[in-house]
Amino acid sequence: MISTQTQTIQPRFNEPMKNRGSYWITTFGCQMNKADSERMAGILRNMGYEEASTELNADLVLYNTCTIRDNAEQKVYSYLGRQAQRKRSSPHLKLVVAGCVAQQEGEALLRRVPELDLVMGPQHANRLETLLNQVDNGQQVVATDEHKIIEDVTTARRDSKICAWVNVIYGCNERCTYCVVPSVRGKEQSREPKAIKLEIEKLAQKGYKEITLLGQNIDAYGRDLPGITSSGRRQNTLTDLLYFIHDVQGIERIRFATSHPRYFTTRLIKACSELPKLCEHFHIPFQSGNNDVLRRMARGYTIEKYKRIIYKIKELMPNAAISSDVIVAFPGETESQFKNTIQLIKEIGFDQVNTAAYSPRPNTPAAKWPDQLPEEVKVNRLKELNILVEKIARQRNNRYINQIEEILVENINRKNNEQLMGRTRTNRLTFFPKRNHQNKSYSIGDLVKVEINEIRSFSLGGVIAK
Ligand code: SF4
Repeated sequence: MISTQTQTIQPRFNEPMKNRGSYWITTFGCQMNKADSERMAGILRNMGYEEASTELNADLVLYNTCTIRDNAEQKVYSYLGRQAQRKRSSPHLKLVVAGCVAQQEGEALLRRVPELDLVMGPQHANRLETLLNQVDNGQQVVATDEHKIIEDVTTARRDSKICAWVNVIYGCNERCTYCVVPSVRGKEQSREPKAIKLEIEKLAQKGYKEITLLGQNIDAYGRDLPGITSSGRRQNTLTDLLYFIHDVQGIERIRFATSHPRYFTTRLIKACSELPKLCEHFHIPFQSGNNDVLRRMARGYTIEKYKRIIYKIKELMPNAAISSDVIVAFPGETESQFKNTIQLIKEIGFDQVNTAAYSPRPNTPAAKWPDQLPEEVKVNRLKELNILVEKIARQRNNRYINQIEEILVENINRKNNEQLMGRTRTNRLTFFPKRNHQNKSYSIGDLVKVEINEIRSFSLGGVIAK
């Protein structure tokens, strides 16, 4: 077993290597993991691997893992158990664990699953080829050392041909007391604006219409990059980046996630209201509706500040959609503090809220605190919250009825191939028949005006507008 040191990636352009067999990637967790998996798939294809038809006949199996909550972490172990058994009868099989569980557990994972060939943290995703070459030399590899993320030149194997994730900042320097991300994804590393724009230009040339800029804490983009303006303002902020990439021809829509209220500025809100391609959907986690809980979470803002951000957005973009993340039953959260969360959700009227009960995570301060709440309280508060969130999402959808919405067609409805599916600029999934009243049919990649005539809690239905 060797622990790797920093090595540069030798690019190889469009000349796939000999057939190395087939690969299968299973991705758990967030968009950052999905984007990492797309890049790792691109590297494997460039090395000469083909995508396997099923997990059980792949020659290389890679699990890109998540540890944001305990149940997410536990998932990978059941998958690994099956593959470890398979490996005992097929020794050529390569088993790889990537992502946040790999970073969190490192060598301990090899003790738990000795059949593993490679354990690699998120910062090493772009180095997959180098690490697999070491495996091919007969080594068992653990790559979890802090690492400067190198621009990857291989072409990501993207799931969509229309919408693309574009990483702009990796890692997080915040220290939210419940969160495992900083310890598994490391310090913030912003990509250079020019490298980001080049990637977006290449995507546009390939026909991509929508990009989503990604970062765990995207509003902090650029704070590790040099550059202060004459007025002392930081250059290379997310707002500057949005202006810089906005003119890429062919890209119709720009989105970004995930935001942090601590860094969400009025300048950013103004830019989003001025730049036509910026979609009117903002994902800004508030986590709790109570200031004492926010203080103990070390979130770095108050509910009053949060509301000011949302009301400024609604002032400049009245139709904007707001989504969020919330944690209930954080250690010590009282019933009345929980009611503050309920109250905030009613007051803001979120289009969507991702809900979770607090889950103690390794290497996080809150996991060691004495006032952990019982499972029953977690289950009850989550249940009450989910009922409310769904009710409000449906109420919020009423505003779409009989409205004409612009939909970017992303796919054919798998359940009905006479229907297309895509999202509004406000990120609402919408289904509609692919032909208009003159029997003209539309397809993936088209921007279509749809008249909304049906609402559900988290999606819409309609017909192509006359
Ligand atoms: S901002 Fe907080 S919750 Fe978000 S990734 Fe960073 S530490 Fe975690």
